[in-house]
Amino acid sequence: MEQVPGVMECGEAHDPDEVYWNPEAETMPLDQLQELQIEKLKRQIPYLQANSKFYQKRFKEAGFNPGDFRELSDLESLPFTKKVELRESQEEAPPFGRHVAAPFNRLIRVTTTAGTTGRAVVQTYTRRDVLLRDESVCRVLWGFGVRPGDRVINGFNLSMFNAGVPYCTAIERLGAVNIPVGTERKAEGLLRIAKELDATVLVSTPSFASYLSERCEDVLGIPASELGFRIVCGGGEPGFELPGMREQLEETFGTKGIFDLASSSDAHPNSFTNCYVRSGKHHVTGDLVLVQLINSDTGKSIEIRDGAVGEYVFTHLDREACPLLRYRTNDIVRVHTSSCECGRTGFRIDLIGRSDDMLLVRGMNVFPSAVQSVISSFAPRTTGKIRIILDCPGPVAEPPLNLEVECAQSVEQSAWPALKEQLDLTLREKLSVRTDVSLLAYGGLERTTGKSKIVVIRGAD
Ligand SMILES: [Zn+2]
Repeated sequence: MEQVPGVMECGEAHDPDEVYWNPEAETMPLDQLQELQIEKLKRQIPYLQANSKFYQKRFKEAGFNPGDFRELSDLESLPFTKKVELRESQEEAPPFGRHVAAPFNRLIRVTTTAGTTGRAVVQTYTRRDVLLRDESVCRVLWGFGVRPGDRVINGFNLSMFNAGVPYCTAIERLGAVNIPVGTERKAEGLLRIAKELDATVLVSTPSFASYLSERCEDVLGIPASELGFRIVCGGGEPGFELPGMREQLEETFGTKGIFDLASSSDAHPNSFTNCYVRSGKHHVTGDLVLVQLINSDTGKSIEIRDGAVGEYVFTHLDREACPLLRYRTNDIVRVHTSSCECGRTGFRIDLIGRSDDMLLVRGMNVFPSAVQSVISSFAPRTTGKIRIILDCPGPVAEPPLNLEVECAQSVEQSAWPALKEQLDLTLREKLSVRTDVSLLAYGGLERTTGKSKIVVIRGAD
């Protein structure tokens, strides 16, 4: 097998005291990183021209000559790639689509996105793509403190999901013990295996981690803090980084090792990850994926500088099977560029919300995740579980915004009126939105093994 640049050896060859999985990539000076990105694009863009029918057509329509690419701003003359186009590409050229740029006999894996909106989009991988994907996950998990010797439970959905099997192989590459339980075994099965195999790390959505902590006493007769998880991490939805919710998980699992990661489903090997400072999430794969910021309404580029807010779009620098260029994620982020004491040089992001989730309440943009963040800051009085109930499909919603908020077990009903008043007031102060909070008793909102559904249409379920 060829040596792939940017990919480290397996974990057994690493010094466990090393802070970074890939010191060179994670601490590369930014000017050097940009040079590397340009150099890689000078190979990747001609690769697309030679192998991707999808991008051949794009380049031709845009009058873009791949040989003319010199600097990152040259990409701005090209149109964005959107998820709906990948779906169309799959329908036009089944099973994998016109955007697949490697021959079928070099494909070794397929996964799909969660499929929450429309038909699932398929990702294909060559062996090199699998290595790069493993590399990106290893940078994240190693940064959280996962080491050879750890027993890691993959609590994501294993069936087809791109954090299922791809995480399993990455855990193995890191040299830790991969315990592929998945959501398929439900909370009871996962908890039993965690105890029997003395698991030390849990990777899952925050909703599922929280549900596991609630079920632990019933299933195993011990509190979740006695399970012995040293690290509880994952993503897929807000939670691990929400004020209040993280502290609650720290307490229930009895560890300070609660970490958040983020990646758009089609973007890997792109990764954003918490470091121990937890001031946003570092972009740790700038050598593999170029991330740029745009205004999601106008499509105009926004410079990546401290405090900038915009939708991030990404361009693969290396991917073979389904490489994407200027792909729109719909994820709105705030960027931090100040230096971080952990030494990683990649800029940091806070995920603000998704442009396709955003509600418009009397002209104000309201992200459901921002509402959840405010509610979570009331922990331990609230559990962080909420539902926003709309009378008709958004994004336009009339005030007051109807919200169901679950209370913690310890909150007496007599305290509810004051809590409701405080929640409505704080939401108005922080998000400039008028709300009508209905409090629910503990357990009043559904538990899930995957992502929680925050916005529901009245009468639609
Ligand atoms: Zn840091």
